[in-house]
Amino acid sequence: MQGGSPRLQPWGESDTHHDQEEVFYVQSGEATFEVTDAPDTEAAEAVSVGAGEVIRFPAGEFQTGYNEETNDEPVVGFALGAPAPKHDWDEIEAAIPCQACGEETGHGVSLSDGGAFEYTCLTCGNQFAI
Ligand SMILES: [Zn+2]
Repeated sequence: MQGGSPRLQPWGESDTHHDQEEVFYVQSGEATFEVTDAPDTEAAEAVSVGAGEVIRFPAGEFQTGYNEETNDEPVVGFALGAPAPKHDWDEIEAAIPCQACGEETGHGVSLSDGGAFEYTCLTCGNQFAI
């Protein structure tokens, strides 16, 4: 992340990250966020976030953030994105018995095209799927 304080300006497009949650921190001013489950639908709710407050959006929600026209003060804030753990296969390590090593070792986990879980022994590289 770069230094400095990016200003929050009105932006039209709804924004979502299917594999990422987002956290907004408002440093000064007051931002309004509208949240919907799908694009181009009426906002289910509008939330005001004031100075020093934080709002978190789970992965998959559509949010639009803006500075109310009635606000004289510009909004200064930061947006932080974080990968959702459920999609971050590379970060998963399972301790399970390796057929080749004959003992419990760390295994990387990935999801195959067929929907099976593939395990790769981090010690010997042996692969198997369940
Ligand atoms: Zn092994």
